[in-house]
Parts: sequence; C-alpha cells; structure tokens
Amino acid sequence: MMKTISYLGLGTMGSGMASNLLKAGYKLTVWNRNAEKCQPFARKGARVADTPADAVRDVELAMYSLSNDQAVEEVVFGAEGILSGIKQGQIAMDMSTVLPATSLREQEAYAKRGVDFLDAPVFGSKNESANAKLWIMAAGNKAIFEKVKPVLEHLGQTVHYFGKNGNAAAMKLVGNLIVALEMEALAEGLVLAQKAGLDLNTVMEVVKVADFRSPLLVSNGQNILKRDFSTSFALKLMLKDAGLIQNFSETLQSPTPALRVAEKHLASAVALGFGNDNASALIKALEKEAGVEVKGR
Ligand code: NAP
Repeated sequence: MMKTISYLGLGTMGSGMASNLLKAGYKLTVWNRNAEKCQPFARKGARVADTPADAVRDVELAMYSLSNDQAVEEVVFGAEGILSGIKQGQIAMDMSTVLPATSLREQEAYAKRGVDFLDAPVFGSKNESANAKLWIMAAGNKAIFEKVKPVLEHLGQTVHYFGKNGNAAAMKLVGNLIVALEMEALAEGLVLAQKAGLDLNTVMEVVKVADFRSPLLVSNGQNILKRDFSTSFALKLMLKDAGLIQNFSETLQSPTPALRVAEKHLASAVALGFGNDNASALIKALEKEAGVEVKGR
C-alpha cells in the first residue's frame, strides 16, 4: 500500500485534494509556487518542499494540479522541475486540464527515467475537491492505475480508467466542451427570460426539475440570480479550456461550431475584467450586449 505522496499546485483543486490526502493518513509533501499556500498544510504535518525537484524526492507518488500547459511545462520540465528530482520506480500523475499531447510528452519524458505516468484529470469543482466527491478519470499503464486507484478513491466519488496515456486528458476536454456549451445555454436562456419579463426565480425552479436539468445549470443559475460570481472554476480557466478543445478538435477534424460562440463570450467577459470570477460570469458578456442584468428576487 502506498504511504508517501507529494502534491504540487495548491490552488482551488489541489488544496482540496491535498487536504483529503492528509485526512486519509498519507505522509504528504507539498509544494506551491506561492509558498504561502503551503502553510495550512505545514500546520497539519505536511513537509513543505522548496522546489518541485525537492518535493518529489523519496515519495512513491507525485501528484499535481496546475493551471495550464505552460505551468506544467515549467513545473515538470523546468530547472529544478519534477523531472530533475524524480527517480526510477516512482509514479507521477498529472491532474491538470491540459492537451492530450502534453500528457504524452510527459509520459515519454518520465519513461526515459523509468518513471510511470498517469494523466488523471477531474470533473467537479471547489466543493467536490474539498469534500472528496470528484469524478476522476485516469489513463496509462493498467497495473499502475490499479496501484494508484485506492489513493484516488480518497479524493473522488468515481474513478474511471481510460486506457492509454492521453485518453483521460481527451475525456476531460470532451466533458468541458459540454460544460462550456451548458454555460453558454444557461446564460443565453437567462438573458432571454429576463428580457421576456419572466420571474427568474420561477424560471430556475423549472430548470431544477425539467428534463433538461443538470446540477451545473442549477448551481450556476442560482448563483447568477444572487449575483454571486465567487470562484469555483475561474472564467479565465474556462477560456483556456475552450482554446484547448479548439486545438484538440482541429487536430482530429472534429467540428465544434457552437464552442466558437461560447469561446467568443468567454473572451469578451475576460476582456471586461471578469477573468478571475467564476466561469458563470460569461453571462456578463451577453448582459452587456442585451442591456440587462439578470437578477433574482
Ligand atoms: P487555480 O486555483 O488557479 O490554481 C492553479 C495552481 O497552479 C496554483 O497552485 C498555481 O500556483 C499553479 N501555477 C500556475 N501557474 C504556475 C506556474 N507557471 N508555475 C508553477 N505553478 C503554477 O486553478 P484550479 O482551479 O485549482 O485548477 C487547476 C487545474 O485543474 C487547471 O488545469 C484547471 O483547468 C483544472 N480544473 C479546475 C476545476 C475547477 O473547478 N476549479 C475543475 C476541474 C479541473 P500559485 O498559487 O503560485 O499561483
């Protein structure tokens, strides 16, 4: 059974997962670019590492959740990066949302050092991460997956195996394509409802129960009505993901015409200064165009 783990990247998602690893009794080492975020973990007994290379020393499993491909590039491949500290027999697992091609590049680089690698991105957001209710996908060597699965079961409510490296990263982009279109649909629908003079609380009561309901539509819709855009999944990260999906779908010549529309509104809302707000702030681009503000009672 695995006992020693390091977690790199203590943002919204990483901090929840690292807390749950501590709760589950693993001996944890943490690293974050902004070292202040390590302090709550140090107080709970985690070792704080100075560099990514130092963080992965002497652990069985090195896990990380970083903003984007660029961050992975720096933390994995950079000077004092994970690759300069990790050794044969260890396992690395990237839980960030990145291009499948990045996962494959990571896998090749780790393989040269005799290190096994899984891409293991997640669905769910701040609350699911904090409450160990994530929906986790993993890809890579099956035996390594089986070894790591008990760890993932401390972090999520489901764990799905996707076969060869890059496939879990691909599934994450498939899912986020659907998420982006749900957010666009919600924003367009609520703006139309507002313009039509409907009672928006009653609109959300229907969204909650009708056959097109989804937890994502309900939680984001209710928060929009309260004008609560506090961040679970940052708008700028959703825009980043829209770019990844475009890139990935173009390489496969798979059409994503609706995504282009959602991406345009995401970019407009970021340009309006809402990039650090929740992804639901996408609606602010449509509100500006429509000259309304969507608000509940
Ligand atoms: P976040 O709160 O913005 O945290 C990002 C983390 O990446 C922080 O630890 C940050 O360090 C680190 N980082 C960024 N650039 C870096 C760099 N160049 N070098 C080193 N570290 C760097 O993001 P998050 O919401 O936790 O998301 C993390 C990943 O999970 C992303 O790929 C995201 O798309 C994905 N994801 C997010 C959600 C969600 O709902 N939030 C859901 C599923 C998947 P600092 O603290 O120093 O800035």
